[in-house]
Amino acid sequence: MILNVEYRHKNNFENFFLSVKNKRVAVMFDLNTKPFALPIIKELKDNGSMTVEIFFPAEELIPTGENCDLAYNLANGCDYLLAVGSGTLNDMGKYVSTRLSIPCGVLATAASMDGYCSKGAALMFDGVKVTKDVNTPKDVLIDLEIIRNAPKQMTASGFGDIVGKYTCLTDWEMANVVKGEKINQKAFKMMEQARADCLNAYQDLTKYDPDAVAKLMDALIMAGLAMAECGNSRPASGSEHHISHYLEMDFVKRGEKVPLHGVKVAIGTLISIELYNYLKDNKIQFNGCEKVYNLVEKLPTVKEIESMLVGMGSPIRFSQIGVRREVMEGAIEKAHTVRDRYTVLTLINELGLTEKVKPILMEKFY
Ligand SMILES: [Zn+2]
Repeated sequence: MILNVEYRHKNNFENFFLSVKNKRVAVMFDLNTKPFALPIIKELKDNGSMTVEIFFPAEELIPTGENCDLAYNLANGCDYLLAVGSGTLNDMGKYVSTRLSIPCGVLATAASMDGYCSKGAALMFDGVKVTKDVNTPKDVLIDLEIIRNAPKQMTASGFGDIVGKYTCLTDWEMANVVKGEKINQKAFKMMEQARADCLNAYQDLTKYDPDAVAKLMDALIMAGLAMAECGNSRPASGSEHHISHYLEMDFVKRGEKVPLHGVKVAIGTLISIELYNYLKDNKIQFNGCEKVYNLVEKLPTVKEIESMLVGMGSPIRFSQIGVRREVMEGAIEKAHTVRDRYTVLTLINELGLTEKVKPILMEKFY
């Protein structure tokens, strides 16, 4: 499906409204996104669409099987499903529309994560997090006035997700050097360029300047496109994401609210950068180590990333977001087993350095 990314200030979602004219559109939203859903429902009607409302009166919507079934039943018979929200609603929209074999889209309400265009939907079935393969959205609608006024920690989370592309791309290059893993150059460059454009706009982003927020959104969307180009999540997810996933499982297991994705990824990024520097500074010997040291030279320092995160109002220690000490220790030991993907965590583990680095990481990042 060809992706249509439309900005409100450019053409008022003209292409989208035209494409769903005379069609029955289900619009899905929750208590938080209701203020943005009602105007677009009116616009859809004004532009000749019929609408069906799927409203979840929840402030903390959980993508359970029951909620997905409810949406499925209400959207059944519709030609299109528009989610109004970010992570959860977008994931539910992708999943439900895939089950109904209808196209879906999203009116994005926050620049909080890079899953808008990804082929995965994170859901919570019977208290267990599951990731379903889904169709990607046909339309991503962006109104910068909505996005830049979203809660600040959501924008900080999206920024953290992009900061994570430093280590995820370095992991990919390192795996190429050490294990001969192939790099999809096109996907790599797409993600690298989008990250650079977003990071270059950092100063303006701290002021929520519309152009800078647009750069962040573009980078988050580009992550989905790079993954599609590559056929897997390698261009957007490395060791920093594995740390985040590992920690998340504990929150889910205990039925506690999971800290925002990009906030965990950002602190995971600090850990991964620290590990790369540990290898280089201690001249640890392994296959291709000299080349890997050169990769480390290109990475920003922990201090540089920390100061950017602080500037965005993002935490830089896991204790700040409710992670338990023993769970972070567990992440250092086992996060490399979360996915079958070669990263700096795998390398550290293979070299038998886990116990050596653990106290350093706990001291600096817990
Ligand atoms: Zn991510």
